[in-house]
Amino acid sequence: MFRFSRTSPVWLATLFVVLACLALIGLDGWRTWQAREALLKEAEIDTSNMAQALAQHADDTYKEADLVLQVLLEHIAEDGLDRHSVQRISRQLISQVYELPQLNGIFVYDENGRWIVNSQRTVADRYNNADRGYFIYHKLHADPAPYIGPPIQSRSTGQWIFTISRRISKPDGSFGGVVLATISFDYFKQYYETFDVGRRGVILFALNSGTSLIRRTLGEASTGNSLAAGPLVNDYVAKHERGTVELASPADGELRIHSFVRLRRYPMFIAVAVSKQEVLENWRRDAYIRTIGVMFLAGVFAALGRRMVRRIKIQMRSEYEAVNARARSEQLNATLVQLALHDGLTGLANRRHFDRTANAELARLSKEKGALSLILIDVDHFKLYNDIYGHAKGDDCLREVAKTIGASRRRTRDLAARYGGEEFALILPDCDIRGAAALASSLRQAVSDLRLPHSGAKNGYVTISVGVASLNPVQEGDRILALIESADQALYQAKQGGRDRVVTDPGSLKVIGEDALRQPATSRDGQNIAGSGPASDADIRLP
Ligand code: GH3
Ligand code: MG
Ligand code: MG
Repeated sequence: MFRFSRTSPVWLATLFVVLACLALIGLDGWRTWQAREALLKEAEIDTSNMAQALAQHADDTYKEADLVLQVLLEHIAEDGLDRHSVQRISRQLISQVYELPQLNGIFVYDENGRWIVNSQRTVADRYNNADRGYFIYHKLHADPAPYIGPPIQSRSTGQWIFTISRRISKPDGSFGGVVLATISFDYFKQYYETFDVGRRGVILFALNSGTSLIRRTLGEASTGNSLAAGPLVNDYVAKHERGTVELASPADGELRIHSFVRLRRYPMFIAVAVSKQEVLENWRRDAYIRTIGVMFLAGVFAALGRRMVRRIKIQMRSEYEAVNARARSEQLNATLVQLALHDGLTGLANRRHFDRTANAELARLSKEKGALSLILIDVDHFKLYNDIYGHAKGDDCLREVAKTIGASRRRTRDLAARYGGEEFALILPDCDIRGAAALASSLRQAVSDLRLPHSGAKNGYVTISVGVASLNPVQEGDRILALIESADQALYQAKQGGRDRVVTDPGSLKVIGEDALRQPATSRDGQNIAGSGPASDADIRLP
């Protein structure tokens, strides 16, 4: 059966198509993944930069308010809080609140929490703030550092405000009241609204303790809630100055990329977070569309590849079949040639082959000159053999004799043929009469040595008679017929002479010179029979 090996074009083409499809999909997958990673990295950088900028802004905002408090404390320390001093301070506070947009108000409380002076022109003494966290803190702590309190709702306006306060210490160090700056919630809110963190992003401004000052998501801000229990505050802000972390929000479950930065001077931090899903929204859509495109392309490619592979398969199969058919026809031709040119019984060349070769050799001889010899062989008393042993045994005997004759060929151009019936022939190109006679003699001996039993024969075994002739160049007319006739006459002489012998055509001997006449050209068991002359009226039997 026809199979494709691992190096066949079909296998290679299939491998190529599969690898190309995989490479297409793999490369696109890798590119898509890279694009995702780049987007996330970009989001990290963006949030980190924004958090850094907002932290700086918050720090500066509080610092400005704190500076006002420090100046105020100096005035109070120098001038005390008498009526004139209070009026002057009041004017100063009004102008400062006007200059610093983040300031909601500046307040001075005495040690009982009463408003002594504020930036709001009128002293509303109906409010006592002794219960406020910042007031209690300063009352209990002699610490001169500023205190950042949790966000509170203004008693006068109800609005959320953030506070920064410092302690007024009397000359003896005892508690003398509190200076307080309130910072506008709206100031931060409006500022934060100018930043785009997406629909589900968050800007968080909170105390390090976790209390939220502003947590802004799109269109809303929550203040005063505690985030202390959340992982952002507990695990990250509490432990690091800054950082970026991916966290799912406990509030809404949204997975966000958070970048946080702690304020340099005050115990607060800013966190900017963007929704991961939102960051990847466009990427996801693009990736989806591109994946469909790539899959389609890979599909087209695979389909085309399949067609190509099929075509190659068909082509290869037909090539294979063509090669097979050619091989079969060559084999058939060889068989036909074998049948046409060889004898079925003995496998030697048949009469047609003999005729062709003889003519071809003759044609060659006319161009090149040289010798051409012919040996004719006839099995002795073969009719009798058939009669005694039967035709089948006769065939076997012919095969054996033919095998010996075939084996006697010395050169590739020598041709052993079945001339007809129990007669055989050897065409010997480039072989003179002496060589031919010698070969004939050894052939006769070889057949005799087979010792094929023949009770009808004189010796008791099968023998052959052999006639040898060489081409006489002076002969005119049909030279091949003359050659055959000479060999046949010699063969006849061999039969006449008593069989089981070789007779050389004396005409051929004359051609090779006087020496040949003197030397024995043929022999039978050492007997010189070269002198046997041709019988002009010989009964030559040719098929
Ligand atoms: P001689 O010694 O004078 O040659 O006597 P011979 O009997 O061999 O000669 P003859 O020509 O009288 O007989 C030849 C016989 O060879 C006749 C024929 O039956 C036999 N013969 C020819 N072809 C075949 C063959 O293919 N197979 C067999 N078994 N015998 C064959
Ligand atoms: Mg015969
Ligand atoms: Mg015979």
